[in-house]
Amino acid sequence: MAYIKVENLKYRYPNTTKLALDGLDFEIEKGSFVGIIGENGAGKSTLCQAFNGLVPGFFKGAYGGKVLIEDTEVAKTTVSKLCQKVGLVFQNPFNQLSGAKETVFEEIAFGLQNFGVPKEEMISRVDEVMELLDIAAYRDRNPFDLSGGQMQRVALAGILAMKPEVIVLDEPTSQLDPAGSEEVFAAVDKLAKSGITIIMVEQKLEKLAEYCDKILLLHQGKQIVFDTPEQIFSRA
Ligand code: ADP
Ligand code: ADP
Repeated sequence: MAYIKVENLKYRYPNTTKLALDGLDFEIEKGSFVGIIGENGAGKSTLCQAFNGLVPGFFKGAYGGKVLIEDTEVAKTTVSKLCQKVGLVFQNPFNQLSGAKETVFEEIAFGLQNFGVPKEEMISRVDEVMELLDIAAYRDRNPFDLSGGQMQRVALAGILAMKPEVIVLDEPTSQLDPAGSEEVFAAVDKLAKSGITIIMVEQKLEKLAEYCDKILLLHQGKQIVFDTPEQIFSRA
């Protein structure tokens, strides 16, 4: 059963002439892991932002078609409601981490505090996500003293603690070394297997093929292929 439906999605940034997204059509099942690949400017970041309504003018109809998450049409709801359903992880963990917190624990707890989650629940949720992402050992460390892969997992933990149903990651491994990149893939794979739907932009096709259920290839805003790695490689 499709959990996310993208129907003939078109999007153009204000004051530009070219479509950044040009007629995308695909469905994502709950708990599956979808990888997005494509050249610079293909529309990958724009699509990531369309999943939580962050593209300019999205709510004012500067787009065509639909993005449905469960039965919620993204453009007909609000960013604050979507944020609870869809978590977005950026390319560079330096931009995601608040920079104001001295420990990994406080950093992960930050979003929950802002949402007024009671202290006991906050502590148990933070402990749970640290355990799951294998970063409990860094609880009292400064997030900025960690390696890239560890830092990216702290950023991911902050998002995960909010209990989203979907996590969208925009090139989370592009600034990491191979070991860090492997850590992030393994963590994300674990989340997909726990039932969270994962959408991840990645430049390395062989990594996508190893972990993803489906791969979306974009080129100049158009959907070139949306299929399983097996199908894609059998055609090549
Ligand atoms: P990718 O993530 O695949 O590199 P993007 O989604 O960033 O691609 O960009 C898709 C297209 O939209 C490109 O042509 C890019 O120049 C354009 N674009 C991206 N962001 C903006 C913006 N803020 N304003 C205008 N055009 C943009
Ligand atoms: P990414 O690798 O994530 O696609 P880019 O380096 O393409 O990021 O873009 C970085 C920032 O510049 C983004 O915030 C994007 O919206 C903006 N941007 C990209 N292309 C354009 C454009 N043609 N006009 C205005 N802003 C743009």
